[in-house]
Amino acid sequence: MKEIDAIVIGSGISGLLTALALSREGKRVVILEKESYIGGVCRSYDVNGYRVDTGPHAITRLENGPLRQLMDKYFTIAPQFIPFGKYYVRIGEEVKPFPWSINAWLTFGLIPKKDRLLLIKALFNTLYLAKSGKDFSNITLSEVLPDRISLTTRRFLDWLCYFLVGASIENAPISRFVDNKTHNPRSIPSVGKIYDLFITEGATDQGYPKGGLQAIVDAILASFPKGSVEIKTDEQVQKIECGEGAQGVITSQDSYECKAVVYSGFSSNLPRLIPDLPASYTRNLATIKRVNSMTIWLGLTKKIFTNQGAEMWVDADPYAWMVPTSNYDPALAPKGNQLVGFAFTPLPENYSSSAIKKKALGTIVDSIPDIEKHIDMIHYQELIPEKASWGINYGFGDVRTPIKNLYCVGTDTTKRSAGVNRAAYSVLNLLDVMKSDGFF
Ligand SMILES: Cc1cc2nc3c(=O)[nH]c(=O)nc-3n(C[C@H](O)[C@H](O)[C@H](O)COP(=O)(O)OP(=O)(O)OC[C@H]3O[C@@H](n4cnc5c(N)ncnc54)[C@H](O)[C@@H]3O)c2cc1C
Repeated sequence: MKEIDAIVIGSGISGLLTALALSREGKRVVILEKESYIGGVCRSYDVNGYRVDTGPHAITRLENGPLRQLMDKYFTIAPQFIPFGKYYVRIGEEVKPFPWSINAWLTFGLIPKKDRLLLIKALFNTLYLAKSGKDFSNITLSEVLPDRISLTTRRFLDWLCYFLVGASIENAPISRFVDNKTHNPRSIPSVGKIYDLFITEGATDQGYPKGGLQAIVDAILASFPKGSVEIKTDEQVQKIECGEGAQGVITSQDSYECKAVVYSGFSSNLPRLIPDLPASYTRNLATIKRVNSMTIWLGLTKKIFTNQGAEMWVDADPYAWMVPTSNYDPALAPKGNQLVGFAFTPLPENYSSSAIKKKALGTIVDSIPDIEKHIDMIHYQELIPEKASWGINYGFGDVRTPIKNLYCVGTDTTKRSAGVNRAAYSVLNLLDVMKSDGFF
């Protein structure tokens, strides 16, 4: 076999994007994947004539985010994205568009008027804190909220925290909410932010990939330079061999030598592959808290959800997010039928899978009159959407490790954005670090 430059452990979106970038920088890469399939939690498969994704997805930041940067630089074939449409909020029987701007917020009838005003006051107080140089990564959303807000408003904000950072309102840092996007470079920072809050039009740069999530994975696979990337499935890495630095891996089937190893599994599992990591590093990894979720896919004999967009179910317990994927691409369901995914999070510690399935399905059936008689297919998934909650009291991994030529990548290595874009940010970070180490 030809000399291997890098071994990538794991074929999720982080591993695949890493292999694509390194191979297009002229390196020979081998990807080792323990499962029989490629894509990790970013793929699609068929269930009784429906094409379900691993959880309902919206792909964000398509205009200038990190995934876009990687697509522009390394993809030879790009997936086609269909505009995602609006986000709707469902509370009780009512469904209303998500209030993206302050103007929309002021008339957002699902939240009591008193709370809307209190929250605007809290927002301006927070922007004032920003001006006085406070570190937003250590302040939680609940710390800047007025005490007097109603339970409905608190649940609405808690919902946002869980879906954006995988942590509760008591643990989510406000940095995630205030400085994610780039702003007009010509505006004065705080004024620019306030201006944005008045005029913002919502998630206009989000999309759903035609053909399902698999289309993203297929585009990456099609973009690999010929003969530069080899993928081996059903091959679990059991040990990373280290001398002066990472030198190779031992798997369930074989052993491989290489110049660098990139690990894209859970960072907290890394000590199982290298027993003698420094204690302080291992201790931090042990404090990472994973996000958990349950998805229910429903195949329906008629189109019940007519909106082009997702719904945030604030009343649901656990909280839910619904995406009718066949509204974007009718080919995902049999003709005339609808495919809808509901993701529920957070699941309690040591939850019973059957109890959560029953409760979550019960929530859907109770909320949508008559849905039960149109159910043609039910499919459940228990998946980890993010490898690390971005809560201020939890640990987080890093792209760099204490071992030379060993790197980590994935959603527990970079505190920025969420989901696929967090994975993409981690790949950009990794490439910077590997480049500065002289790897390419
Ligand atoms: C319900 C749900 C909803 C979501 N919604 C959105 C959304 O709306 N928007 C969005 O952008 N993102 C969303 N995401 C998140 C997004 O899909 C993930 O963050 C992203 O796909 C994670 O990619 P990854 O490569 O970091 O991890 P993974 O996909 O977990 O990949 C890691 C891979 O490494 C392999 N592996 C681990 N250990 C080993 C080993 N020792 N040897 C060999 N292989 C190994 C695993 O089998 C796996 O294939 C959602 C996810 C879920 C589950």
